[in-house]
Amino acid sequence: MKLIYEKSVAGRRAVQLPSRHDDARPHIAPRLLRTQPAELPELSELDVVRHYTALSRLNFSVDTHFYPLGSCTMKYNPKACETASALPGLADLHPLWPQLRHGGLLTQGALQLLYETERLLSEITGLAEFTLQPLAGAHGELTGCMIMAAYHRARGNRKTHIVIPDSAHGTNPASAALAGFDVVTVPSDAQGHMPLEALRRAVTAETAGLMMTCPSTLGLFVDHLKEIADLVHGVDGLLYYDGANLNALLGRVKPGRIGFDLCQLNLHKSFSTPHGGGGPGAGPVGVVEKLRPFLPISRVVKRPDGTFVLHYDEPQSIGYIAPFYGNFGVIVRAYAYLLMLGRDGLRATSDAAVLNANYLQEKLRPHLPPVAPGRCLHECVCSGAPLKAHGVHTLDLAKALIDRGCHPPTIYFPLNVPEAFMVEPTESESRETLDAFAQAVAELVALARTDPDALRRAPVTTPVGRLDEVAAARNMNLAYRSAGG
Ligand SMILES: *Cc1c(COP(=O)(O)O)cnc(C)c1O
Repeated sequence: MKLIYEKSVAGRRAVQLPSRHDDARPHIAPRLLRTQPAELPELSELDVVRHYTALSRLNFSVDTHFYPLGSCTMKYNPKACETASALPGLADLHPLWPQLRHGGLLTQGALQLLYETERLLSEITGLAEFTLQPLAGAHGELTGCMIMAAYHRARGNRKTHIVIPDSAHGTNPASAALAGFDVVTVPSDAQGHMPLEALRRAVTAETAGLMMTCPSTLGLFVDHLKEIADLVHGVDGLLYYDGANLNALLGRVKPGRIGFDLCQLNLHKSFSTPHGGGGPGAGPVGVVEKLRPFLPISRVVKRPDGTFVLHYDEPQSIGYIAPFYGNFGVIVRAYAYLLMLGRDGLRATSDAAVLNANYLQEKLRPHLPPVAPGRCLHECVCSGAPLKAHGVHTLDLAKALIDRGCHPPTIYFPLNVPEAFMVEPTESESRETLDAFAQAVAELVALARTDPDALRRAPVTTPVGRLDEVAAARNMNLAYRSAGG
């Protein structure tokens, strides 16, 4: 595909701006003005529209393709939630508008929406109080670790480390370290579970807390939760729930009722914000009652007269972690989604997500063995190790799936699974889509035996095939230079 600069035709224009009046920019210092016109491509409006529309169609997206990227919950996000977040009364709100009076009912609706979203998330998780401020899952984890540190400081506890299983998302140890803790890692057993014995060795009087993902990154429910919680609470540690996988438990299990003290939720995974490519997210953090004083400010408070205000006077708070209200548009989508689905809808979500993952696991079993025995939750992890006999790796299989119109699943993660192939179909996919995916995998595994080179060459339907990913990251070339200079 041609670059937009290569489509340039001298003198072609998209829009004609009115000719410049010199007095229209008297405040720009002459030394800041261009002496040469900018080297921009010269194109008609239609050229530009076609160029970018064609580029956008090269993308994989949930709106165009099956996107079973494990651990990412790439599900369908109802367009009604987009519409809600784009309502002018919400989208055009300025965060510095007055909360009350002087036409000040201006932001009351927004504050009420924040307040009610917090209550809904509390209901879903069984935790006493939420903050919507964190701007991503990892940011929520960091907020949670800072709250843990503040709690122990207030109690006069000497705590040095946070315990994290080796199957955890990489952001867990990063967040703990950023908050000033050492990280003690617990290795998983062959089934992908965190063994109690190893955990007992890791938890000491200096343990600030344990960060856990449930279901684990292998898509398995964590056994022995009661023993784990007792162990951690026995040293006045806190049990942190990485709620990015909540899709598996929505409407069924409340983390706050099974021993967890605080958690983050990824609104951009479970609650209707499209993600990928680093777009805006939100990682609200919920806490049990005893951690409430440490939540970041500001807090949305409902006053006896029914109005809402932002409250800043929280002496034990960890302080500011984000400007204003957090990513407001993301929160609006989540609020709309929660109201649309309701209690029964949320439960139906996790039912279908788990059913779909198990359906695929069984369909894939004859071709790619699942790593763990028995049922999975919202995602299944298989291993491409048997393909190695034919000189084919999980990477080759993933690339070949692109040619079949499927986004590759997550591969080589979790790190403790050789040749991992991790599929999260989500609740929004039909049986026909799952069957087509399983069929594609079956055909490619068969092809690995007869024509392994075909897999190693894939993808062949994309503008570029295999990339040197290391070189692409190290020697990034982001600026266009014409042949002339
Ligand atoms: C996605 C994910 C995170 C991190 O969330 P971000 O919003 O990408 O920062 C943390 N833990 C788990 C288990 C995840 O899947």
